[in-house]
Amino acid sequence: MTRAWWHDGIRFACQGSGKCCVSRGAYGYVYLTSADRRRLAAALGMPTREFTRSYCDKTDGYFHLRETGIDCRFLEQKRCSVYDARPDQCRSWPFWPENMSPKAWAAIAAECPGVGKGAVVPRERVEQTLVFQRRSTARL
Ligand code: SF4
Repeated sequence: MTRAWWHDGIRFACQGSGKCCVSRGAYGYVYLTSADRRRLAAALGMPTREFTRSYCDKTDGYFHLRETGIDCRFLEQKRCSVYDARPDQCRSWPFWPENMSPKAWAAIAAECPGVGKGAVVPRERVEQTLVFQRRSTARL
């Protein structure tokens, strides 16, 4: 089997730029699992149903945060205002299956200042995160 290009790990540490919280054309949606909606509703002190009504839209059968502009509605002064309750999609950035081709990763590296910073994230953790993100997407 061919080794993944990240076999020796990937250096990444979030720099808090908020760049992954800004819409990038077609890649703008912050998708929400039902667990995400429950967690965010609890963080905002409201019933999940009310959170869904007030903060979410559904496109092609999938819930996502309702867009109110180019930035995520929870981005405040380049910081996530719901960080502890942030959706799975945000927790697993940038290790998403669609980001892991060399070409896609080069585009991510050009945008995200966390790529190449901090300690090496070992291959096992990258792969666990990819599995987590795939499972999370399957639960949408
Ligand atoms: S929920 Fe928070 S981490 Fe996720 S895109 Fe919005 S501001 Fe960024």
